[in-house]
Amino acid sequence: MNRILILMYHIVAEPQSTQEARYCCTPQRFEAQMRHLQETGTRLLTLDQIADALDGHAEWPETGVAVTFDDGFADTFRNALPVLTRYRIPATMFAVSDLIGATNSWMSVRGFPQRRLMSRSELGEMSAAGFGIGSHTRTHPRLPELDAEGKRREIRDSKTRLEDMIGGSVTTFAYPYGIFDEDARRAVEDAGYRLACSTRSGFNGPDIDRYTLRRIEVFGDDNLWQLRQKIKFGTNDASALYPVRYYASRVSAWLTKP
Ligand SMILES: [Zn+2]
Repeated sequence: MNRILILMYHIVAEPQSTQEARYCCTPQRFEAQMRHLQETGTRLLTLDQIADALDGHAEWPETGVAVTFDDGFADTFRNALPVLTRYRIPATMFAVSDLIGATNSWMSVRGFPQRRLMSRSELGEMSAAGFGIGSHTRTHPRLPELDAEGKRREIRDSKTRLEDMIGGSVTTFAYPYGIFDEDARRAVEDAGYRLACSTRSGFNGPDIDRYTLRRIEVFGDDNLWQLRQKIKFGTNDASALYPVRYYASRVSAWLTKP
């Protein structure tokens, strides 16, 4: 079984518009989800533990869940951190280095509500509390639209800037919008990151490309049943019909075996 799952959250706060509802997990819902992970004895992993296993420095964990947040929202810091601390759940925040203490300008230009991003002191506090800080580039661009040097600047320089801010190492990366091309992937590897997260859904096994790890997106209106479905099947599709289709495809694969 190679069922390492990486959960992806964005904003832990009440949505301010219908447009952002998909990205907003309410604090009550988030707490119920974290309590569920803890109460069900889910093995919780840091991204560094996954990197250690990919390096062969640790045994592959077989199953486990890692929690990640994209973008570095101040609301996520304020609302999620106490919950993660209470339930002793490790997590990584992917921050946009040049927008620390600013706002989510890449979203507000598209009509999303303006939200504050974590300040430098909040970032430092999160890091000092033992949570991982990863890079989500300098300015949240669509990486494939940049030339090779532009990609390198976003990927390499965000790492050093964030490292200066937290006084520690930044070893993990997440592609903005989940999009990348071969140049971007290579720039992540060349910059010295240990791994990178995409937004492709699915489980991760020991043979996964460490620079395109899969993640499962937790949508703002996902209830506990849907979260359980996502964890069980490693898919963003938590509709009631998914298990039916999943088992039907396995039966049909078995029936058509040579
Ligand atoms: Zn993002």
